[in-house]
Amino acid sequence: VRRRLVAGNWKMNGDLALLAELDAVAAAAAAHPGVDVAMAVPATLIAPAVQRAPGLAIGAEDVHEADSGAYTGSVSAAMVREAGATFTIVGHSERREYQNETSQDAWAKAAAARRQGLSVILCCGETGAERDAGRAERVVQAQIEKSLPEQAHGDWLTLAYEPRWAIGSGRTPTLEEIAAIHAIARAKMRQLIGDAADGVRILYGGSVTGDNARAIMAVPDVDGALVGGASLTAAKFVPIIEAAG
Ligand code: 13P
Repeated sequence: VRRRLVAGNWKMNGDLALLAELDAVAAAAAAHPGVDVAMAVPATLIAPAVQRAPGLAIGAEDVHEADSGAYTGSVSAAMVREAGATFTIVGHSERREYQNETSQDAWAKAAAARRQGLSVILCCGETGAERDAGRAERVVQAQIEKSLPEQAHGDWLTLAYEPRWAIGSGRTPTLEEIAAIHAIARAKMRQLIGDAADGVRILYGGSVTGDNARAIMAVPDVDGALVGGASLTAAKFVPIIEAAG
C-alpha cells in the first residue's frame, strides 16, 4: 500500500525569513506520521532549511543532468545532496516552458539524481492547448515513456501529474479527469516497469488548496499532492497535510 505524500515546491520564492514557516509544517508532519511530507526549495535555501527543520524531507527543484563540469549557473545533484537535499523535482512544466526542457532531459536529470542517491519527483502534464485538442492522455503517456527511469522503484521515484493550465491558475481538472490521467499514467508505468509500477506514488499538482485537497486525494491512484502557492505559508500548507492524514 502506498503512503500518501504531500510535497511543496517553493519555486523562485522565499528567503531565510520564510524558513520560519517550516516549524509549523514540521510539527504537522510529526502529528501525521502516516503522511510523508516534503518541501522543495531554491538551492540557496536547502542547507538552512535542513538546519531549521531536520525532521522534514528537504529537496531541490531541479538538478543538472551532468555530474560536474563547465555549466555556468547550474547546480549538480551532488551539490544539492551535500547541502542536505534528499530528493529533487525533475521535468517541472516551468522548466519545460521557460528552459525548453524535454522529457529526455528529465530522464537524464533523474539518472543524475539517482547517481547521488536522491529520490526523484518526475513531473508530467499537458498544456491547455493539448487538453483542448483532446491530446492530454497521449501527451502524458509519451512524456512517461520518454522520461521514466529504467529500474524505477517506488522507494525513490514519485510521479507528479501537473496539468500546465492548472498551475497557479486556480483552475483544476474535474475529479473524473484527474482519475482518467492517473489511471493511464499507472497503466503506462506498468507497461514499462511491470509490477513495480504499483509501488510508485502519483501526485496531483496544480492549484491544490486546503479546500480541494481532500476530494482530490480521494480519487483512485492519487497518492498525494505537489503544491506550489499553498506551500509558501504553513497556514495554507498544513491543512493539505491534514487532508492527507
Ligand atoms: P500551484 O499549486 O501554485 O498551482 O503550483 C503547482 C506546482 O507547479 C507545483 O509544482
